[in-house]
Amino acid sequence: MATENPLNLLDLDRGGMEALFASIGAKPFHGRNVFKWIHKHGVTDFGQMTDLSKKLRARLADMVEIRLPQIILEKPSSDGTTKWVMELEDGQRVETVYIPDGRRSTVCVSSQVGCALDCSFCSTARQGFNRNLSVGEIIGQVWHASRIKGVPTNVVLMGMGEPLANFEPVVSAMEIMQDDLAYMLSKYRVTISTSGIVPNLYRLKERSDVSLAVSLHAPDNELRDQLVPINRKYPLEELIPACRDFIRGDKRRKITWEYVMLDGINDSDAHAKALIRLLEGTPSKMNLIPFNPFPGSDYRASPPERIAAFRQRLLRAGIMTIVRKTRGDDIDAACGQLVGRVRDRSRRTVSVPLSSVQEACR
Ligand code: SAH
Repeated sequence: MATENPLNLLDLDRGGMEALFASIGAKPFHGRNVFKWIHKHGVTDFGQMTDLSKKLRARLADMVEIRLPQIILEKPSSDGTTKWVMELEDGQRVETVYIPDGRRSTVCVSSQVGCALDCSFCSTARQGFNRNLSVGEIIGQVWHASRIKGVPTNVVLMGMGEPLANFEPVVSAMEIMQDDLAYMLSKYRVTISTSGIVPNLYRLKERSDVSLAVSLHAPDNELRDQLVPINRKYPLEELIPACRDFIRGDKRRKITWEYVMLDGINDSDAHAKALIRLLEGTPSKMNLIPFNPFPGSDYRASPPERIAAFRQRLLRAGIMTIVRKTRGDDIDAACGQLVGRVRDRSRRTVSVPLSSVQEACR
């Protein structure tokens, strides 16, 4: 099916585009021009790419295509957040959230349909893993957001899926986000969020200089094993050094830790103390995320006073800590509230809550 389709130019980063043009005997700069037309100007019709010869345009139209995910639902929230449901070529659906905040605007994109990691408080886990998104399906979310709202100031890979489990397409898509001929976002304005696939963190360091957010959620292995089961494979004593290594050499950088506040589970003073000890010496920003309940989950959100007290402890220890605002909850766009219709592994079409789209992290 998908493999019979002509090459989708949305799947190519700048290097890929230049290589394609070289391979058909055209000049690489024509490839750069096409790349710019698509991402900077939002043009997907070869006929409008007026700095290419008519002959080259006709040739491209014959050979390749520019195919985008399709927006099948746009839901605006009273707080300015907008959620889009995007349908992919095989009928799978992912969600993308646009979050304006003063002069900032953040697009939260998905990297997979479903997720294989099975974190106990995350509803995407319930859905299981369906498939990886292609480069075009990831950058296509940013393409649409840019056309509708203008190019965002920030992109976070905090939607559905584990981005480091879809390594090459994610790296390529982030390159396009940063490219001067495309979305021009600096390394401080593209953030990848991971639950901690340690070998791929080291690989990422070789390939990309984006900012790093890590889903920590617990200060010790015993608890993290329960909440984030990938911890059994890559425990904290491997994860923390990998994160520190990632930001080594850039004094401006900090790791953003995500910590979901679960009532009576990970939110005590003792947990805060252990967290402070764990992060000692690591340049850190802490994002406390009030748990967003979803049908069938046993967890409860920590009371606001508990979250405030937890935050105070971390602040007193010198850890910059914010409580992530819940945005878009009236349109089911807050974390833990997204609902997507996807095909499960038995190919039935089912409705499931997707937990993963988040308010942006600083
Ligand atoms: N797989 C990546 C990207 C997902 S980002 C990662 O784990 O980092 C989504 C963030 O929301 C993660 O920090 C995730 O742990 C958190 N999250 C998932 N379900 C949640 C819920 N119900 N309430 C609050 N935060 C949740």
